[in-house]
Amino acid sequence: MTRIVSACLLGIRCRYDDERRPNEKVIKLLETEVLIPVCPEQLGGLPTPRTPSEQRGEKVVTRNGKDVTEYFIRGAREVLRIAQLYPIGEAILKQKSPSCGCGQIYDGSFTGKLINGYGVTTALLKSQGIKVISEEEL
Ligand code: SF4
Repeated sequence: MTRIVSACLLGIRCRYDDERRPNEKVIKLLETEVLIPVCPEQLGGLPTPRTPSEQRGEKVVTRNGKDVTEYFIRGAREVLRIAQLYPIGEAILKQKSPSCGCGQIYDGSFTGKLINGYGVTTALLKSQGIKVISEEEL
């Protein structure tokens, strides 16, 4: 199977804090599958490192209160474009991220509180019929 995967899960330094955090289960999949790494926040035009963001209602805001929704939407559309170029069976996206979260996201208060929901990219892929799971479901 060919799957889209959040690039940070493969240890790519695209996270907001510029850290390398590979997920061993995802790395293991490379032995048998083709994984296409994507980072919607970078694809949307945001730098690395960057100020962390959270969803707040329909918008995405940084910890400093800046509205960065348009970057998140642009990145989600680019990920969808990549997904449509390949015979994608599924996407594995990083839980809790405002872009990639799949079932849980932070509530917009920057206090670590989680709510049920989907990241901007996850929601777009799902709306187009692409199955999305989080790395926690592997
Ligand atoms: Fe990882 Fe997604 Fe955040 Fe990029 S946007 S760093 S791929 S969780």
